[in-house]
Amino acid sequence: MAETQVMSAIQRSGQRLTPQRMAIAEVLARSPKQASAQELYDRVRRKHPYIGRATVFRSLDMLVHAGLAQRLERPGHVSAYVWCEPGHHHHLICTSCGNVEELDEKAVAPLAEAIVRTRGFRVDHAALDFYGICRACRS
Ligand SMILES: [Zn+2]
Ligand SMILES: [Zn+2]
Repeated sequence: MAETQVMSAIQRSGQRLTPQRMAIAEVLARSPKQASAQELYDRVRRKHPYIGRATVFRSLDMLVHAGLAQRLERPGHVSAYVWCEPGHHHHLICTSCGNVEELDEKAVAPLAEAIVRTRGFRVDHAALDFYGICRACRS
């Protein structure tokens, strides 16, 4: 994702654009793979050596809150983060290489319909993360 796209995504979300937030968002948007806060902190520091650890962690929370990143569970209660375009909330997460693919709403709609039918529960919002092994890792 280009720098200008990252910038406008932050601005659209109503968050203040600071150089620190921009740096973290850029690092996150550059890779389709999930990364822990610590890994992202290490990457950001290569270009911005004076950035604080707390700033990185706070900025990640801001990005999650703004819908620009998603927090994923990793084994051992570690959180990982992945860049996320607003408007979709489902992911296929490879536990082998860490790659995160998007799964659009169409794939989940039949499940939501079945839930209304069988449980009488109207689904307004769903956020599904599927963990497994991606095509590239399986072959
Ligand atoms: Zn996403
Ligand atoms: Zn994989």
